[in-house]
Amino acid sequence: MNYDSPYLHPDKEALSREELEALQLQRLQKTVKHCMNSPFYKKRFEEMGLKPEDIKTLDDVRKLPFTTKQDLRDTYPFGIASVPLSECVRLHSSSGTTGNPTVILHTQKDLDEWANAVARCLWMVGLRPDDVFQNSSGYGMFTGGLGFQYGAERLGMLTVPAAAGNTLRQIKFITDFGTTALHAVPSYVTRLYEVMHEKGIDPRKDTKLRVLAIGAEPHSEEQRQRIEQMLGVKAYNSFGMSEMCGPGVAFECKEQNGLHFWEDYYIVEIVNPDTLEPVPDGEIGELVLTTLNREAMPLIRYRTRDLTRVLGRTCPCGRNHVRLDRMRGRSDDMIVLRGVNIFPIQIEKILMQYPELGSNYLITLTTDDDNDNMTVEVEIAEFADDYGMLQNLTKQVTRALKDEILLTPHVKLVPKGSLPVSEGKAVRVVDKRKVYQ
Ligand code: ADP
Ligand code: ZN
Repeated sequence: MNYDSPYLHPDKEALSREELEALQLQRLQKTVKHCMNSPFYKKRFEEMGLKPEDIKTLDDVRKLPFTTKQDLRDTYPFGIASVPLSECVRLHSSSGTTGNPTVILHTQKDLDEWANAVARCLWMVGLRPDDVFQNSSGYGMFTGGLGFQYGAERLGMLTVPAAAGNTLRQIKFITDFGTTALHAVPSYVTRLYEVMHEKGIDPRKDTKLRVLAIGAEPHSEEQRQRIEQMLGVKAYNSFGMSEMCGPGVAFECKEQNGLHFWEDYYIVEIVNPDTLEPVPDGEIGELVLTTLNREAMPLIRYRTRDLTRVLGRTCPCGRNHVRLDRMRGRSDDMIVLRGVNIFPIQIEKILMQYPELGSNYLITLTTDDDNDNMTVEVEIAEFADDYGMLQNLTKQVTRALKDEILLTPHVKLVPKGSLPVSEGKAVRVVDKRKVYQ
């Protein structure tokens, strides 16, 4: 790889598997030693009779305890940190809708490494200092804002911190500043396109957009292809989470054949969520990540609850960093309806196959006469008043959904623009079922 930026660690990006693993072992040993400065990990290691010297091979990572979101909550706010607070320069936190928010601390070095990781991702998909990068993420505690800001600046691009929402202003920036690259959550891109369309702007002709980074929420391959066609761009899947800094954990390369997880930054494991044993490559399991270069708050075997699988450990692009499939969703996003397990992404995949349908949809679960039911509302792409056509389409979609999820949902086609659009991550499921105690 012929890189001319000093920030991208080209040496790390092109490592062979053996070299990567040697680096991982060295960094894991250092991380475990460093974790002895964390009151939380020190206690946990001591309880298990584990010493840093016990980590002799990479496989010894399995001797280490898992860390969960609950651990972060129990030690809220600073109990997992491995450095004194005086060495930290930034704090991020998750939304905390279901309990104490989780707090992540960073030293200046952590922030530098984070920016390098994001810059590496953006460089990988062909962005260069002469690109104009617009970030439509929320700024503040949400890491998609500052994470992309610093990464894009580090790469040397003119970076526009447009922040979330205000679609008209967003479009004005895109056209006035000659934005070539945009970061957005996939559900918001559709909204952006619809408003452009209403205003008579053709993104293919009237803007310079060529690359999109889409992520922060699960989305289907079909959704990505729609986005690419609508805007005339290449859209790359971007994966991150606050606990692992934020964006920059994994990104697709130009091959678009899965997410490269940066293995010089993380040890990647996929485990069976019930037995916690590793699953073979290709099998779906829970993603578990160990940070390898964090100072303020290293996390050991963090259970992300995201479900995915290994696709491969080599790539035609030349990078050997493991490739994982797009996320199915988190284990807690799974809908269990009448004993059947369903991921919203399965429904999205079917809906996106109908060009007559828009991209915005909402799944509502209700209890009617003691039966649990699912209603799928989906916007139609264009105004339509041909009752026969709509009825026929409803039938077809219902049948296709039944084939996919094995239950018959109640499908409702609704007018374009009638379902709510959130500025951040889309809310796809509303559960109004009665809970029987
Ligand atoms: P919160 O935990 O408050 O949602 P985060 O921004 O930390 O905030 O969310 C990280 C989660 O977002 C991941 O664990 C994953 O479930 C989801 N996510 C992030 N990027 C992607 C992506 N590219 N595809 C699917 N899901 C994603
Ligand atoms: Zn690749």
